[in-house]
Amino acid sequence: MSEDAAGRLIETGQRIAAAAKGVGRDPDEVTLIAVSKTFGADDIRPVLEAGHRHFGENRVQEAQGKWPELKVECPELTLHLIGPLQSNKAREAVALFDAIHTIDRPKIARALAKEMDKQGRRPQLFIQVNTGEEAQKAGVLAADAVELLALCRDQLGLQIAGLMCIPPVEEEPAIHFAFLDKLAGELGLDGRSMGMSGDFETAVEMGATHVRVGSAIFGARG
Ligand SMILES: *Cc1c(COP(=O)(O)O)cnc(C)c1O
Repeated sequence: MSEDAAGRLIETGQRIAAAAKGVGRDPDEVTLIAVSKTFGADDIRPVLEAGHRHFGENRVQEAQGKWPELKVECPELTLHLIGPLQSNKAREAVALFDAIHTIDRPKIARALAKEMDKQGRRPQLFIQVNTGEEAQKAGVLAADAVELLALCRDQLGLQIAGLMCIPPVEEEPAIHFAFLDKLAGELGLDGRSMGMSGDFETAVEMGATHVRVGSAIFGARG
């Protein structure tokens, strides 16, 4: 394995391509989001310089501390919010992020819709589904996803690109990826944000359009 993040980024891309081809998918259908949470601008810059453009952060405030500067250096990058969002952070989230993967309740959907109208920005949006029905985990229950999608689309005028999930740590991720893929299909959504460092190849095989890979690129988070 390469010693630097840029090298590991390339290896990750190759593994995604191999997994996609193995099931007859076009690797270009899969967006690799390099998850840079806990890493600073100096760790991120080599990956930007290697030509990578999609990055993920899980906290609005942390992202505000490093990305405005990096966006000036590289205006065409795409920043994804992959962590839970509080409605009082909707303004900052809409201003900074180009994609938000974690809509999971009406209050957040309403707050985002309001800010998007105000700011004239249209980040790509995903609904997070709590596929493991874990009490502590963010995400809408699958049974309530239709209703949340209808609210977003019909009442708030939000375009939803797809669904996102984080499988329970103790369970076989493939079951959750298959479930999310099926649910997205039933809802007529193309996007499937699923797969992390330990399981992104499985996710690609099961239809992921966005994989969120942190430690396999940037190294352990300490
Ligand atoms: C941190 C994080 C990731 C990346 O995790 P790794 O195991 O480091 O690849 C993916 N998705 C979400 C929602 C995260 O918070």
